[in-house]
Amino acid sequence: MSEPDYDFASDEPCGVHQRHTPKPSGTDLHHVWPKGMGGPDVAANKVPVCATGHQNIHRLLRALVATDGDVKPSFEKRFHPGEQKYARLGFERFKRGSL
Ligand SMILES: [Zn+2]
Ligand SMILES: [Zn+2]
Repeated sequence: MSEPDYDFASDEPCGVHQRHTPKPSGTDLHHVWPKGMGGPDVAANKVPVCATGHQNIHRLLRALVATDGDVKPSFEKRFHPGEQKYARLGFERFKRGSL
């Protein structure tokens, strides 16, 4: 069984979206550079995020990896700026191999 790349049940508010309607019922701690891609399990590599943002960040990050960072702007624009920011940051950390 593979490990999930997030920790459950953070009490912190969503760190990706500034405003929330409705409020998230809770947040996951997302690893910006995912553990499954070699990312470290340290505080500097984690951000609390609601379930929707979490799913979207991973979706965009997968597309970035598949295209080596060259996703169509029309595709990337469909994501919230906070989701774009953390997907791009995760991709940069993965490519660089460091935080
Ligand atoms: Zn995650
Ligand atoms: Zn959110």
